[in-house]
Amino acid sequence: MRAVDIIINKRDKKELTREEIRFFVHGISTGRIPDYQTSAWAMAVLLNGMTPRETTDLTLAMAQTGEVLDMHDVVDIAVDKHSTGGVGDKTTISVQPIVAACGLPVGKMSGRGLGFSGGTLDKMESIPGYRCDLTTEEFEEQLKRTGLVLCGQSKNLAPADGKLYALRDVTGTVQSIPLIASSVMGKKIAAGANAIVLDVKVGYGAFMETLEDARELADLMVQIGQLAGRKVVTLLSDMNQPLGNAVGNALEVREAIDMLHGGGPKDFREHCLHVSAHMLVLGEKAKDLAEGRKLSEKAVRDGSAFEKLRALVKAQGGDVAYVDDPDKLQKARFIEVVESPKNGYLDQVQARSVGEAAVALGAGRAKKSDPVDHAVGFVIHHKVGDAVEKGQPLFTIHANDKKKLTIAREAVLSAHGWSDAPVPALPLFYE
Ligand code: URA
Repeated sequence: MRAVDIIINKRDKKELTREEIRFFVHGISTGRIPDYQTSAWAMAVLLNGMTPRETTDLTLAMAQTGEVLDMHDVVDIAVDKHSTGGVGDKTTISVQPIVAACGLPVGKMSGRGLGFSGGTLDKMESIPGYRCDLTTEEFEEQLKRTGLVLCGQSKNLAPADGKLYALRDVTGTVQSIPLIASSVMGKKIAAGANAIVLDVKVGYGAFMETLEDARELADLMVQIGQLAGRKVVTLLSDMNQPLGNAVGNALEVREAIDMLHGGGPKDFREHCLHVSAHMLVLGEKAKDLAEGRKLSEKAVRDGSAFEKLRALVKAQGGDVAYVDDPDKLQKARFIEVVESPKNGYLDQVQARSVGEAAVALGAGRAKKSDPVDHAVGFVIHHKVGDAVEKGQPLFTIHANDKKKLTIAREAVLSAHGWSDAPVPALPLFYE
């Protein structure tokens, strides 16, 4: 078999066989297939799609390029959550400690920034010393000891996803239902999750812009989960505007910590409590969502969720002093508050433009080898539906380069839209 023939088959809209898919994914993980062929294949998949059968084979091949963990000896029910990617989505950083504090251990494999969407691992690395590259032994030992793991793909766990993900980020091949479904579910299966809450983002700042596409992605991931014997719950949540206020790595870590102290923006808090309630129900720690929510609120109120975040950071080598005092987190050199140029009701805060502007400031990557600037990003002060007055702070830019700051100011101003008539707030969840 040759990689080039598999690329040509997909280019010519043929259905790939299981053997072809396995050969290609194995080649990605061993490095036998070079980046240029992997990128060409990913573009062919993006343009021509895959059947559900091909996507399932791709997912299982992705999971099986490394070890597939069996968590039965470690936890009773391994519950996991994953977001399909959005702007300002720092949910995991708050939700994982909340559910762990409620007695539900979570070993989670997350991703880095992808296109205009941020990545949990880049965010966590704002905390000096935090290690994302755990071995399988470390993963299992830490999960047993602390009830939390938050790491990335490694040589042993879903290695093909790590490589493909980094290439998709910089080759315009992110927005593909089969590539997203296999990336998400491959990681979940490899990490041994028995039950999974999938947060499928919908809107301008999501890879699925319409409810129809989001449903297709959600249904496909449920099907893959069922075939692999996993329970899957999917939530369709809004990503037309950023989630919460902060967009950018260290800024988002700070907001997630605020949430664990009982503060943070209302939409973000609500989102976290809803996701954690679902996880607690799946993990049989709560009989229904109302109880799951109550337990989650209590874990925030009594400080046990925050203590779990400290335990996670400590276990993975991070300096807990930065969690205790987020003022220590890296700060940008230039911080500028931009005021509203007019009166009115906000009718849009276009999440994708904000995400792209954050990447341009350095919060994400343009090339695979680019370093990430943890300090830069935005704090968006208002939500769609808010009444704002001319001269009121609209957003704050955190930048390390004056020229980039000027470009970001224009981009994020244009991401905002005003209406003279009242505008309804956007829902948090659609389904
Ligand atoms: N999250 C992932 O892990 N993979 C994707 O492709 C998109 C979001």
